[in-house]
Amino acid sequence: MSPLIDRHGRTKRKLRISLTDRCNFRCTYCMPEHPDWLPRSTLLAREEVARLAGLFVDSGIDQIRLTGGEPLLRRDLLECVRDINALRERGLRRLSMTTNASRIAPRAAELVAAGIDDFNVSLDAVDPHTFRRLTRREIAPVLDGIAALVDAGARIKLNAVVIRGDNEKDVVPLLEWAMARDIPLRYIEYMPLDAPGQWKRDAVVSEAEMLAAIRATHRVDDLPRGNDPSTPYLVDGRYSLGVISTVSNPFCSTCDRLRLTATGELFTCLFSPLGTPLGTRMREGIADDVLAEQVRRAVWLKDAGYASRPGPVDRPLTMHAMGG
Ligand code: SAM
Ligand code: SF4
Repeated sequence: MSPLIDRHGRTKRKLRISLTDRCNFRCTYCMPEHPDWLPRSTLLAREEVARLAGLFVDSGIDQIRLTGGEPLLRRDLLECVRDINALRERGLRRLSMTTNASRIAPRAAELVAAGIDDFNVSLDAVDPHTFRRLTRREIAPVLDGIAALVDAGARIKLNAVVIRGDNEKDVVPLLEWAMARDIPLRYIEYMPLDAPGQWKRDAVVSEAEMLAAIRATHRVDDLPRGNDPSTPYLVDGRYSLGVISTVSNPFCSTCDRLRLTATGELFTCLFSPLGTPLGTRMREGIADDVLAEQVRRAVWLKDAGYASRPGPVDRPLTMHAMGG
């Protein structure tokens, strides 16, 4: 089978699957304070997740990331992980998860055993007050979760969104906290994916600004860029830092990822106004080969990306429902 490729010549290797739009956090940059959750009946069932994941792996996807919402809120999470882990014999090479880690402590070891290769944990600040302001929740369970993942031998990476007036003063303290524990960190520019009308260009702390703040007290060297969306740097000659600069320096020209929402809608770009409703079509009884062809067609039509039309997207779907 030929790989999934779009009309701009980009081959797709990575799929993010949102297992639920629900979350126990209320990060200001991700969702409204009082979100309307999707009706449970519309979320993909375990078997539907497995069917779609298998179809994508058969079409050339070799890296799957489970996300949400918060994937730990999904009751059959372990079963979903096991189903997807079984796709290694069909070509899956890597299974990852993005989580706020607040509920992971008791489950870290079983998730690693079930097949999760690596975890991205969101941690925007180590100062408890800043953390609470951004997430509207407490930091302690997240730090417990990170410690449990480390104890379980999991590979982890921290993700931090930086917002002016909220946590730009935490950029250096968080970096030093992560360096002291030798946990890789990626800073993410604040993207227009939150509640409508909230994002402001002025609130984006650019990659250049973050680096300038770090360079005041640390040596930062450029590293060669791979096909990861983050620009890699070496701090103090020993520590790996990444910065995802979607707003100031979009990486769209090399984008190799696709996204599936918790209802099975395929979005070929974080900023696409419209998705392809694969979940609905499965429930209407579509055959696998027709479904695979519709995926191929949707991928082919993928837009150039954020670089070609910067700014907020006019759609009712915020980051928590899209699957970050
Ligand atoms: N709940 C999990 C978590 O927080 O890690 C997974 C889902 S969350 C939507 C995935 C990632 O999206 C998080 O790292 C979060 O920081 C990021 N994110 C959410 N809204 C964002 C925004 N407006 N700009 C940049 N990143 C955002
Ligand atoms: Fe929940 Fe993650 Fe969004 Fe925060 S970023 S509200 S933890 S889905």
